[in-house]
Amino acid sequence: MSQTYDLIVIGEGVSGLTCASHATQAGLRVATIESTLFGGLVLNVNELDGYPGHESGTDLASQLMASNAEADVASIQEEVTGIRPVGGSFEVTTSTGGKYGARQVVIASGAKLKKLGVPGENEFEGRGVSSCADCDAPMYINEEAIVVGGGDSAMQEALVLAKFCSKVQIVVRGDKLRAQKHLADEVAANPKISIRRGATVEAILGGQMVEKIRIRDTGGNTEDVPSAGIFAYIGLEPNTAFAPKEISRDGKDCLVTDASCETSMKGVWAIGAVRAGYSGLLKDAVGEAQRVAEAVAKRLA
Ligand code: NAP
Repeated sequence: MSQTYDLIVIGEGVSGLTCASHATQAGLRVATIESTLFGGLVLNVNELDGYPGHESGTDLASQLMASNAEADVASIQEEVTGIRPVGGSFEVTTSTGGKYGARQVVIASGAKLKKLGVPGENEFEGRGVSSCADCDAPMYINEEAIVVGGGDSAMQEALVLAKFCSKVQIVVRGDKLRAQKHLADEVAANPKISIRRGATVEAILGGQMVEKIRIRDTGGNTEDVPSAGIFAYIGLEPNTAFAPKEISRDGKDCLVTDASCETSMKGVWAIGAVRAGYSGLLKDAVGEAQRVAEAVAKRLA
């Protein structure tokens, strides 16, 4: 085994970085492992909703990364492929053949955006199909765009798009929104945004770029709605492919934990979007991260 740590945190999103920071402050030797860029889903959010300081996601993640580096948290850029219990500790393996020892493991691998799975979605990726309004909205000045979904992400991103687009239509498959009231109210008050309920996207059409979105209503009628962009926010899929199958999951493949965020494999914890029952609020991810760091430090004392 190349290195052994008191704690390995899988994932350098806000929850993982926060957990690593608190565990280090508690005197533990900590490593974080990340397969892509640090920061997780908040990297795509310029205005963090309900988070003190109202920093952008990039600022928040960069600050956490920098302070962890100063505190000597090891940051390993590899993709985790497995976690194996070995004589009371764990071996964490990676796709490049890395093997790291850990007395405890925190899974903070987050989630990725679900795809619509309709014709044209892959074909027009980056040519009108986008998953980041904060990154791509300036490309749609005075254009029309469609947002899919009725949750917080769809509302938040529609509000970002409305700053640039001439018109934003939110397509919601059911009757009701899932979004928090303050976001739904802000959307309702925005004259550039309309909501089309009982509707689903059937296909994304265009030439070089997206030009139209085929929308089907509950009566089975379809309409090709002119649109230069489509942003789907239809929920999240947890990143759990590497987690041992012995760890209990819920119906959405999120990792089930007890109230202290420990999974069914003792010594392996789960926090943030990968955990079943997570509220989806950043402040709760940060709270879980802090509590788990304290619990791990207590366990190892
Ligand atoms: P979400 O809350 O799971 O909402 C997904 C939405 O997409 C629902 O309206 C759902 O409709 C719809 N949907 C699901 N599958 C669909 C499909 N195949 N076709 C069309 N529509 C579909 O997802 P989210 O908005 O990404 O939020 C994820 C979590 O992050 C939530 O916990 C949320 O609160 C949190 N979050 C918080 C903030 C914030 O605090 N500001 C911002 C963003 C996200 P049904 O209702 O009919 O199932």
